[in-house]
This record gives sequence, structure tokens and C-alpha cells, in this order.
Amino acid sequence: MFKPKKMIKAVDDISFPVYRGETLGIVGESGCGKSTTGRSILRLHENTSGQILFDGKDISTVSSSEMRQLRRKMQMIFQDPYASLNPKKSIREILTEPLRVHGLDTPKEREHKAIEIMEIVGLSEYHLDRYPHEFSGGQRQRIGIARAVILRPDIIVADEPVSALDVSIQSQVINLLLQLQKEFHLTYVFISHDLGVVQHISDRVGVMYLGKLVEIADAQHIFTNPMHPYTKALLSAVPITHPDEKKERIIIKGDLPSPANPPSGCTFHPRCANAMEICKTQAPTLQIIDETQSVACHLFQ
Ligand code: SF4
Repeated sequence: MFKPKKMIKAVDDISFPVYRGETLGIVGESGCGKSTTGRSILRLHENTSGQILFDGKDISTVSSSEMRQLRRKMQMIFQDPYASLNPKKSIREILTEPLRVHGLDTPKEREHKAIEIMEIVGLSEYHLDRYPHEFSGGQRQRIGIARAVILRPDIIVADEPVSALDVSIQSQVINLLLQLQKEFHLTYVFISHDLGVVQHISDRVGVMYLGKLVEIADAQHIFTNPMHPYTKALLSAVPITHPDEKKERIIIKGDLPSPANPPSGCTFHPRCANAMEICKTQAPTLQIIDETQSVACHLFQ
């Protein structure tokens, strides 16, 4: 007899708004559920329960044809641009295909849009007949960004979009994302384990631990006044940027537990230096501290 498969909750009981035109950074250790959250927002990952409201409409219940229409407005930028670009297709095909699939524009207009977006992302018409393997990692990510933006979406989920790139290229790609956001009024959900990058690009930041949102706040607040012990420890590892800045590194003990067997109560309690008896048995809920900051921790409940 086979034992029934145990269900692992990669993300559990989280709720947060994403405001039009903002960048919401989502951070946490690898395996904390950030990517699942990002994919769930775009319904690339089917949720077992809950709602995903887009312009007030629950997209988790819309029909597949309605979802196809909505997909144009919701795009994704992936961590590995090489894996996400079809190696057998030219850049021209890669860029015009989304427009064709959505039935937008004439072939000539699609061609024109492809040339235009290549120039906007810092490449040129000359590159359109080339193939993904002929580009550097940074250029491939520019093409991945162009493919997402060519549809003029409302929201883009960027999942670790710069973590595979050299540091010098990372800032160029971040600056490109900021420029595109201004130009096309884009909303970003920016997923990263790199807090330095998240600090640079985000208006608000959500911190995830073992499938739950433990703190969410304005970026400025979270980086100057983190409240959750896990956020404090994560931020203590960000390198200082000014010689006068003083920072004490908080080491988180132990490894991230398996989501298949999460600790009871507050799932961070076995690793938390502030853990109390209540933390072992009762899970804290996200509490509003003020209009910019919410925290899930018994120290504030
Ligand atoms: Fe630490 Fe308790 Fe707060 Fe969890 S609820 S972060 S264990 S103090």
C-alpha cells in the first residue's frame, strides 16, 4: 500500500495589495515561497484556495478564454533569460509572437513595435535576426524585458531578474526597469533574495518566511526600522554603504525548516533569538502597526 502524498503548502494564508504604478519587492531566503507567490499572482500556479483580485475581479475563477485576454496585462520576467527564450526562434519572432498570439496589430505594425522596443531596451533593429545564443546574459535579459513590455502590460512579476547577471550589469538592468516603469506606467512585483537590489528599486517591501508574509512596509521604513526579528536578521547581512554606518550582524541559527514539516506556532521560533513560550504554540497574525507597516510577531500583538 502506498501512503497518501502529503500536501506541502509552499505559500499559506497571505494577503497583500499591489498598488498601481508601484514596485513591491518580495524578499526572503530561497525556499520561502516568493516565487510561488509571484507565479500565483499571474495564475501560472493554480492556488488551492483564496482569491487573486485584479482590478477588482477574482482571476482565480475566470474562464480560460477570459484569462487569455488578461494575460496580456500580466507579464513575467524570469531569472534565467536564456532558458526562457526559445533558442530556435530569432529575436524578431520572439518579440512579435506575443502580439500575434493576442491578435494585436498587423504584421507591419508588429515589426515596427519590435524595432521600437529593441531601441528602448538599448539594443537595435540589427539584432532582430539574431538568435538568443548570440547575446550576452545582460542582453538576453533586455530581450526578456522587451518581450514582456511589448504587450504594454499593467503588471510585471520579475522573479530574480538580475541575480544571474554580473554586478555591473545588474545596475544597468535595474535602471532600465525603472526607466520603463516611468515610461509605460508599469507596476512591478520584484522578487529577489538580494536586499540591496530590492532597496534600490522598491516602494514597498514584503518579507516572507516559510510560505508566510511576516512583515510588509514602505521600503524606507523597512530598511530604517525593521520590526520582525527575521527582517532584522536579513537586513543585518546587507553590506554597509557608508563608512560611518555601524551595523551588528545578526546570525540566524539553524537552517530553513522543510515546508513539508513546518515548526508549530510561529514557524520562525526555533531560529528566533526573541522566541517566547507563546511562539511555540500560537502562530502570530499580520497586525497593522501603522498605515505603512504590518508585522506578524507576538512581540507586537
Ligand atoms: Fe520570534 Fe516569537 Fe516573533 Fe516568531 S512570534 S518572530 S518566535 S518573537
